[in-house]
Amino acid sequence: MTEIKQDVQAQLHDMVDADWEEQVEFLKEITRFPSLSGQEADVHRHIASFLEKELHLQVDTFGLDIDKIKNLPGYSPVEWTYENSSIVVGKHEGSEGEANSLIFQGHTDVVSPEPSHLWKQDPYDPWEENGRLYGRGAADMKAGLTAFLFAYRALYKAGWQPKSNLMMQFVPDEERTGNGALAALHEGYTAKAALIPEPFGMFPANAQVGSLWFRVKWDTIKRTEDGHVQTNAIEKSQVIISRLHAFVDRLNKNVTHPAFAEMREPIELNIGKIQSGDFESNEPVTAKMEGRIGVLPGETVKERQQQMQQLLAEELQDDEWFRLQPPEIEFYGFHAEATVSDDEAPIFQALDTAHETVVGEAAQRRSLPSTTDARFFQLYYDIDTVCYGPTGGCFHEIDEWVDLESLKQVTKVYTNMIISWCGIEPINNDPS
Ligand SMILES: [Zn+2]
Repeated sequence: MTEIKQDVQAQLHDMVDADWEEQVEFLKEITRFPSLSGQEADVHRHIASFLEKELHLQVDTFGLDIDKIKNLPGYSPVEWTYENSSIVVGKHEGSEGEANSLIFQGHTDVVSPEPSHLWKQDPYDPWEENGRLYGRGAADMKAGLTAFLFAYRALYKAGWQPKSNLMMQFVPDEERTGNGALAALHEGYTAKAALIPEPFGMFPANAQVGSLWFRVKWDTIKRTEDGHVQTNAIEKSQVIISRLHAFVDRLNKNVTHPAFAEMREPIELNIGKIQSGDFESNEPVTAKMEGRIGVLPGETVKERQQQMQQLLAEELQDDEWFRLQPPEIEFYGFHAEATVSDDEAPIFQALDTAHETVVGEAAQRRSLPSTTDARFFQLYYDIDTVCYGPTGGCFHEIDEWVDLESLKQVTKVYTNMIISWCGIEPINNDPS
């Protein structure tokens, strides 16, 4: 069997090379969909048709029902609807069922390309330059989606099929919550192991931070007996921002977790939005800011919330204004815990072997300073999961790009993964 496997491996690698232009073309096609979080339904229809027509998979498309998941661990509370979102699952049922079943999972949502006028070209009209494909979502993570789609297509075209069940999940809203991943798993779409091709440079990721979104609101006007007192709400934002940074600096000094101890600032704070003021000659008296803060393994989202509430209620007491009227804080969107994988689990070993066969070097591990959907699989469904995808850069920024050669290699690694993990058999021998 080993020899047959090696023959099929070589055959599938050739197939990936032969279909390469088509793969890049398909990547461009799906990158042209402006699938911002909450707007994934259109690109999902396009992908569902590919799953049916090109891969001959059983396809389920369904909506994301908040009522079904809102009480589950890992759920992130939202202030938006999922009317224009959907979940697409393509499934092959193998003769050995769940024995060595595998999920390829990827999110189709992208973050805003704004300010889009700063891009070299239109972010939704992808272009190639020096071996890279540029465009919003090209790397994060539409390239990865094509890696598993075309790995499977190579297998199918060569006349083979997985022996164990193989599933592809396309999920929405990874960039704000991960609720799409949770909904798919809750619906029963589970397996023995999962691969998520996030574009982290062909390093199997074995640890990732969590993420919490917050909103701080403050008024800088207060009624008194003879009228009111007020101060400038925009200027007071400086006090809040500097206290938040001091808080995060303290947290980062005390990080001992081995996966993150070497990282300079594993817990990052980002102030992403600020809103205040409406007239040049008026003093603004209300403001709000929204941002994101990291969470490490061993910490909980709840603890981080309490620390931040305490920070604003107590530590701002030395500020004259905020002692009078402390800001309020609320939490919405990402309520993501950190997760650490057992990187000796069989799925890691299989991926290490597949990587080494294709690349010729051992794969290095990586800890991620960001969150991914892998946490749902690992923390709440006990499914060993690896994030492993192509090399890219400027995710969420202007001029996002993916390295095309690395995408081709990842596609080949995935063909090896299907062979070694699920096992394969000729399509003709299918008893059905
Ligand atoms: Zn991503």
